[in-house]
Amino acid sequence: MPVMSIIVPCFNEQDSIVRFYEEVRSVTATIAGVEPELVFVDDGSTDATLHIIKDLRSRDPRVRFVSLSRNFGKEAALLAGLRHAKGDFVAMMDVDLQDPPSLLPRMYAAVSSGEWDCAGARRITRAGESRLRSWCARLFYRIFNAASHVELVDGARDFRLMTRQMTDAVLELTEVNRFSKGILSWVGFKTTWIPFENVERAAGASKWSFKALVHYATEGIVDFSTAPLEFAAAFGLWSCLVAVAGVVVIVVRQLAFGDPVPGWPSLACLVLFIGGLQLFTIGIVGQYLSRTYLEAKRRPVYITRETDG
Ligand code: UDP
Ligand code: MG
Repeated sequence: MPVMSIIVPCFNEQDSIVRFYEEVRSVTATIAGVEPELVFVDDGSTDATLHIIKDLRSRDPRVRFVSLSRNFGKEAALLAGLRHAKGDFVAMMDVDLQDPPSLLPRMYAAVSSGEWDCAGARRITRAGESRLRSWCARLFYRIFNAASHVELVDGARDFRLMTRQMTDAVLELTEVNRFSKGILSWVGFKTTWIPFENVERAAGASKWSFKALVHYATEGIVDFSTAPLEFAAAFGLWSCLVAVAGVVVIVVRQLAFGDPVPGWPSLACLVLFIGGLQLFTIGIVGQYLSRTYLEAKRRPVYITRETDG
């Protein structure tokens, strides 16, 4: 019988796990012809998360787990889960029930038919989210898709069910700075999208601050596009041309009319503008340089503390 692994990253989720487990269990029981395997990844939780996972494991051998040595972030936790999963089909889900388990049978039907390599969940509403956050998210998708050859679907969640072939392809990308949405799109394969209405968290609170989201968005763009570098170069060249034209105008005016050059305010503005522009473009280069630096160190993405053996 084929095995379907479900990878579940958990960071301080003691209030959600049992509920999640029961719901997923009752859904997978309705999917015929596949053996489910739940792979919980404890991402350095400081609450009872690991304890609850181990308790589930002792009662249900189809529960497996990896526990990381500290909090490495969801991307690292997903990678740990992907490496640990043994399934012929591999799914990734959040533990807070924002990824409805009820979509699993349809996803499995799509992928097991052989027609699709991947089934993903896409939320079509952002109800329950602040307006500013929705607006920023939309802006991010627009900028990302304009800047990168990799296409991101607006509203696509990391809730996917993939074939083993696609999972292995994802595992071949060994980069340290991991942006899963980009990676899942970059590897290609045929993906079908299942739309659903946004669901609010079952318990606990989101781990995302606004600052963390800005960092995540920058990560995504820098990891999958060099357009900002091209923009910096083009803008630098363009300001050079404007400066040369300005010099010509000033020299001609001086020679032809003997006008003294008036005003320091305009000069001060120009100096500030060019200075700001230089810092901005150096900042862009710095973003790429820092990624290169982190990649060059080849540190592991996460460190395992304990597994189910
Ligand atoms: N998560 C994790 N490590 C982290 C942050 C989050 O493993 O450092 C897990 C979390 O337990 C949840 C999933 O990632 O299962 C999504 O997190 P969250 O609900 O906070 O994100 P949101 O749904 O608000 O985007
Ligand atoms: Mg959530």
